[in-house]
Amino acid sequence: MTVLRRAILDHLARHDGPLSVPALQEVLLGDGLTPNKTSLYRQLESLHSGGEVQEVLLDNSGVYYEVSASHHHHALCKLCATAICIAHAVAEKGVKHLEGIARKSGFAATDHHMVLYGICKSCQAK
Ligand SMILES: [Zn+2]
Ligand SMILES: [Zn+2]
Ligand SMILES: [Zn+2]
Repeated sequence: MTVLRRAILDHLARHDGPLSVPALQEVLLGDGLTPNKTSLYRQLESLHSGGEVQEVLLDNSGVYYEVSASHHHHALCKLCATAICIAHAVAEKGVKHLEGIARKSGFAATDHHMVLYGICKSCQAK
């Protein structure tokens, strides 16, 4: 495993939430690593196709990456674009209910995607 690949996995594992590519570049810079976007994307793509990393789509803020985990949701800060992971079993029950309503309209839901938007803890403190 290359130094870059290990560093990417390390940061994604340690970070409490998915990271965007610019945020990854910043933390890698802290390690003295300065990968260009192409090699960073190439590593992420290969980690993703290997199933080690999953892509997180948070609407128009670009793709975020995190270590593969079971189904959960995310909250995105509108000011700094930091994202955190949100998991709650009760929320999934609410989704089941919504799926039931969709079924009444003849729609068979197969998947869902939810993002909470707001202001993160550190932006609130500013
Ligand atoms: Zn923020
Ligand atoms: Zn997550
Ligand atoms: Zn869910």
